[in-house]
Amino acid sequence: MTERFDAVVLGGGPAGLAAAAYLLYARLNVALISPDFGGKVFYPFALRDVPHQDTVWGASLVHELAQRVSAALQHHILDTADAVKRLDDGAFMLKLSQGGEIESRSVVVCTGVRAQRLFVEGEMDYWGKGLSYSAISHAPFFNGRKVAVIGGGERAIAALQILIPLAAHIDYIEARPQPVADREKAEAILGHPRVDVFRGWEVQQIVGDDYVTGIDIVGVNGEVRRLPVEGVFVQFGLLPNNSAVRDLVTLDAFGHIVVDENCATSMPGIFAAGDVTNICAEQVPVSIGEGAKAGLSAWRYVAANKL
Ligand SMILES: Cc1cc2nc3c(=O)[nH]c(=O)nc-3n(C[C@H](O)[C@H](O)[C@H](O)COP(=O)(O)OP(=O)(O)OC[C@H]3O[C@@H](n4cnc5c(N)ncnc54)[C@H](O)[C@@H]3O)c2cc1C
Repeated sequence: MTERFDAVVLGGGPAGLAAAAYLLYARLNVALISPDFGGKVFYPFALRDVPHQDTVWGASLVHELAQRVSAALQHHILDTADAVKRLDDGAFMLKLSQGGEIESRSVVVCTGVRAQRLFVEGEMDYWGKGLSYSAISHAPFFNGRKVAVIGGGERAIAALQILIPLAAHIDYIEARPQPVADREKAEAILGHPRVDVFRGWEVQQIVGDDYVTGIDIVGVNGEVRRLPVEGVFVQFGLLPNNSAVRDLVTLDAFGHIVVDENCATSMPGIFAAGDVTNICAEQVPVSIGEGAKAGLSAWRYVAANKL
């Protein structure tokens, strides 16, 4: 017979660990499905002339949560969940990627997002050495330095707004036009004297030594230019890892799982927290708090519904 848990947490990042910590504290029968323990807390970041430091605010709390969870957790399934189905009695069946199924009375989805990549030479070499996918996480490190913002749309414009007061100069590269909600406002931001706009130019490669020193861009006429920058912000969009539950819960226009103030989704028994949700997160401390809330809500749900 398939094992039925009280709660299954999907994702071992800050949100998933916080949710799991509360569910284990409640002495429930919990499984955590995640290929890793820590999620994006292990994203690297270093910059020339910046003394080595822990750049992820809240990382120490995540490490503490990881220790707490691994000490109490009996079922860490090193896998991902492919699909969640609702059963007739209101519980859920989870299909694992490597085969196998488990059942649970409640599910807490903390699967995070993945950044849209550029797919050019040098991108992975310089990721965390000047190249970032998250302006909100790394912009302050580039105070007084030259940077490039690559992308278009709302996320790139928001990155410019954060970077303009900090960076010495910003090159903005938008290969193809992207929609924005307020075009007039976006153009005003792009018209800032310390922003140079390259529309219709493609990024060819990221170059550097130990760290980023520039990017090569190519125009429609084949002209190649090297822009000297120390920072590269790839700011297309974030893709929520929603595939396991996307047929069961309400998503917003960007694919985030819509949750209420208790981290409840539109499906009773499914809760969600962290970057995968419509709550403005993209920071570890926010994800920890949301994960804790989702864990508490799942606990209350199980307590109210377990016969
Ligand atoms: C692109 C990006 C870069 C960032 N960089 C930094 C940074 O350098 N410094 C900083 O302070 N903050 C950074 N942040 C912010 C911070 O890292 C995140 O807000 C935080 O990690 C989100 O926590 P989370 O638990 O929601 O998701 P994540 O940390 O992304 O964890 C998601 C977890 O879910 C797992 N998972 C995914 N799919 C499945 C599935 N189907 N089944 C089971 N498990 C699954 C993953 O393996 C992972 O364990 C970044 C955010 C983004 C989006």
